Amino acid sequence: MNIHEYQAKQVLKGFGAPVAEGVAITKASEAEAAAKQLPGPLYVVKSQIHAGGRGKGKFKELGAEAKGGVRLAKTVEDVVKNANEMLGNTLVTAQTGDAGKQVNRLYIEDGADIARELYLSLLVDRSVGRVAFVVSTEGGMDIEAVAHDTPEKIITVAIDPATGVTDADVAKINAAYGLDGAATADGQTLFPALYKAFTEKDMALLEVNPLIVMTDGHLRVLDAKVSFDGNALFRHDDMKALRDETEEDAKEIEASKWDLAYVALDGNIGCMVNGAGLAMATMDIIKLYGKEPANFCDVGGGASKEKVAAAFKIITADPKVQGILVNIFGGIMKCDVIAEGVVAAVKEVGLQVPLVVRLEGTNVDLGKRILNESGLAITAADDLDDAAQKIVAAIG
Ligand code: ADP
Ligand code: MG
Repeated sequence: MNIHEYQAKQVLKGFGAPVAEGVAITKASEAEAAAKQLPGPLYVVKSQIHAGGRGKGKFKELGAEAKGGVRLAKTVEDVVKNANEMLGNTLVTAQTGDAGKQVNRLYIEDGADIARELYLSLLVDRSVGRVAFVVSTEGGMDIEAVAHDTPEKIITVAIDPATGVTDADVAKINAAYGLDGAATADGQTLFPALYKAFTEKDMALLEVNPLIVMTDGHLRVLDAKVSFDGNALFRHDDMKALRDETEEDAKEIEASKWDLAYVALDGNIGCMVNGAGLAMATMDIIKLYGKEPANFCDVGGGASKEKVAAAFKIITADPKVQGILVNIFGGIMKCDVIAEGVVAAVKEVGLQVPLVVRLEGTNVDLGKRILNESGLAITAADDLDDAAQKIVAAIG
């Protein structure tokens, strides 16, 4: 689950991180009062969407010469003018895709005097099994380009979970940034605070780009992106409350209501599977035969007929889907329940695209009989290879 920048800053502030003062608004009529709460004389009007690259983004409805999704304003009137121009319009950034995202919220923030823009993120580094800081002096710009062109400018500091962030870790990060004076002292509290926020709140990613050194020598978190590990959200009601469903894929929301693991992808074969391993194998074999999966929906073990039907409806609701592959190994999950769910869903929503079903395991004969006797145009497959080849051939 992702949250907005202003929410992420609120969370980090709770752990003691230095952030600017700011006010989030959803109506342009609130802009003047918001700006007047801030010290000035420089303000920043920031689009709140679940995507980065806002500064360099472009509003669809405005001309090419219009400014991006993060704008400096020198007066309260200027804040109001920019808020009017931005709210309700569609911001297209390198991360939104061509469709862009509608800006429904703005964060009016105190402007900072920036001396340097640095990059910092915290993530789970699976290669070492630890939470790691990823730091670079090249903040504020496209970190992917830095990683590609000048990888030596990105430094990773993995943290031992037994000790947390040590003085030696802080010294390494400070040295990587080339910090001195007040910034060094700020780092001593900031880096452990960010680590604490990351681990206590079960974050999957915490990105501060840029972390700035201000002209007064102090550090400040100027942008913040946080995503949480969805599997740990059950123990963070306070973070769950920050969810903004208007930013999320409607199909993923529907899937989460049914406790289905649904992931949208770029291809055109919809996949209904049970278990993450089988999902991976199914996607691999689709690729092996030359096509790409449009999504995968994992119904897990022991799903009900209703849950299977919901999964099927979510998959068919995606206009990208030109064919569906149901690949189930019935262990805990029973093949007849899958078959009943699929038949019920097809009867309700119809079947506009080819459907290939491969069932194996518990009650497989009963499951196959239910499909055969349903009178629906379902292609049965015997094994994984057969199934993938059939669906790939069916969509041509
Ligand atoms: P994004 O990464 O989505 O483009 P950022 O929050 O990083 O959005 O803002 C883009 C740039 O705008 C920053 O790199 C910084 O130069 C400038 N900026 C953002 N917030 C402020 C602020 N409060 N004061 C001064 N400049 C800012
Ligand atoms: Mg940024």
